[in-house]
Amino acid sequence: MGLTPERLRADADAFMEEVSREFLMVHSGLKPTAELQPIYERYARVLGTAALDLVRAEFQDSKPGSESHRGARLMLEWEVESQTGRALAEIEEREIAWESSAVVSLPDGRQYPYLQAGIEIANASDRRDRLAIDDARASIVETGLVAIRRDRLQRERDFVESLDLAPNYNAAFTLLSGISLDELVDQCRQCLTDTEAVWRDLLPRAAHHSLGVAVSDLTRADALALVRAPEFDRYFPGAAMEESVRRQVTEMGIDPDAGGRVRYDTGERAGKRARAFCAPVRVPDEVYLVMRPHGGQTDYQTLLHELGHALHFAYTRADHPFEYRWVGDNSVTESYAMLFDHLMQHPGWLLRYSGLGKRELSPFLRAAALEELQFLRRYCAKLTYEVQLYGGQLPWDLVPDLYVETLTEATSFRYRRADAFIDVDARFYAARYLRAWQLGALLAESLRERFNEDWYRNPGAGPWIVEELFAEGQRELADEIAQRVAGRALSFAPVIAAVERLVA
Ligand SMILES: [Zn+2]
Repeated sequence: MGLTPERLRADADAFMEEVSREFLMVHSGLKPTAELQPIYERYARVLGTAALDLVRAEFQDSKPGSESHRGARLMLEWEVESQTGRALAEIEEREIAWESSAVVSLPDGRQYPYLQAGIEIANASDRRDRLAIDDARASIVETGLVAIRRDRLQRERDFVESLDLAPNYNAAFTLLSGISLDELVDQCRQCLTDTEAVWRDLLPRAAHHSLGVAVSDLTRADALALVRAPEFDRYFPGAAMEESVRRQVTEMGIDPDAGGRVRYDTGERAGKRARAFCAPVRVPDEVYLVMRPHGGQTDYQTLLHELGHALHFAYTRADHPFEYRWVGDNSVTESYAMLFDHLMQHPGWLLRYSGLGKRELSPFLRAAALEELQFLRRYCAKLTYEVQLYGGQLPWDLVPDLYVETLTEATSFRYRRADAFIDVDARFYAARYLRAWQLGALLAESLRERFNEDWYRNPGAGPWIVEELFAEGQRELADEIAQRVAGRALSFAPVIAAVERLVA
C-alpha cells in the first residue's frame, strides 16, 4: 500500500495521539516510564524516507502563496524536526542519563542532584553559598555535559544540512519556519538599545535592595535569586488559584472546560511533575492541563500560561487538517499562553483575582518589570548568539567567549563559559518565544482597544479570542496574525510600551 498525502496525515494524527498520551501518563505520574520505541515501530512509515520525500515533493510542486504550499511547508517542517529528533535520540538519551545522575559536590561536603542545582542557587540567601553551588555546578558541566552537547549540536547541524534543503542550517530553518532570523536578530539588537535606559534605572536599586550586590559584581547565579522574589507568594494562595482563574475566564465569556474538552488534573499524586503542563492528546477533543499547586505567584503564572495553550488547542477547528491542528509556528500558541500569563502584570486583574492589595501593587509591578526585562534582554541576546553558533562561521573553541560577551553585555549578569553549549534552545525556540512576546503584547493592545482596559472580564472578549485566534489553530504565521488582527507588523514596540507602563 503506497503512502499518499491523506494516508500520511491520518497516520501522523494517530501517531501524535499515541506519543502525547504516553508523555501525559508519565509526566502526570500514572506510569513509571515512557515506552516510546513500540510506538515509533508501529508508525515507522510516518517518519520514514518515503514520507520525507513525499512532503518534500508536495512542497516543491505547490505554488508559493497557495494553501497547499502552506500545508506542505508545515508538513515538511514537522518531518524534518521529527526525523532530526530521531537521529539524535541516542545522544539525547545519553544527555538525559548524565543530567539525571550527575551530582554537584561542594567543598564543604554538601551534595545536590544536578537537576536541582538551579533551585538551590535561586533559594540560597547567603551569596557565598549561591556562588559556591554555581562554581561546583559549572565544574561538573565542564568535564561532562559540554562534550555531549557539542557533539549533539554538530550532529544536528550535519543532519539538517545533509537533507540539502537550503545552503546551510540557518537558511533551512528560515525556509521551513517562515521566520527570517536576520530580521529578528536586527529587531533584538534594537530592542536591547531601546530598553537600555529603563534597565539601567531598575537594576542597580533591585540588586542593592534584594541582594546587597553592586551591579558590577552581579553573576548569572544572582539573576536566578533576583527573579525568585518570594516576598509576594503569600498574596497568591494555592487553594484559591484554580477557582480564581476559572472565574476570570468565565467572566471573559469562555468556558474554562471548553465543553469538557479541557480536562484538569489537579490532584496530588506521587510521580507527578512539579510544574504545570498542557498535553493535547487529540486536538481539539482531548486536552489535559496537569498541575500540582504549591501556592505562590509562579504557580499562578504557570497555570495562566498553560491555560492559554489548553484553550487554544481545545477551541481549534475540528475540520482543520492535521498540520493546522498539530504543527505550525509555535510562536502562535506561545503568544496565546503569554497573552494569558501577562495578565499577572495587569493592575486590575491582580486586584480582582489575586490577594494583592493596592498597597503592594506598585512594588509588585516594579518587580514584574525587572523580571520581564531581564528575560527579554536575555532572550534577545540568546537568539543573537545562537544564530552565530549555528551559523558555523566560528570554530567551536571560540564560541564560549562569544557567549559570555553577548549575554553578559545584554543582561549585566556575568555568564560563564561552561554554559555556552548548555544554554541553547534547540531549533531556535528562542525565536518562537521572542515572536510570541511581540504578538502577545500586540494582541493585548488590540483587546484593550476593542474591549476596554478590563478586557479580561468583558464577556465579548472571550468569544472574539476564540473565533479570531484559537479557532485557526496554527494555520497562520505569527506575523500574518498580527497583520490580520491589528494591521501591524510584529515588533517589540508593544512589549516595550507594556514594560514602561509597569514602572510609570
Ligand atoms: Zn508555553
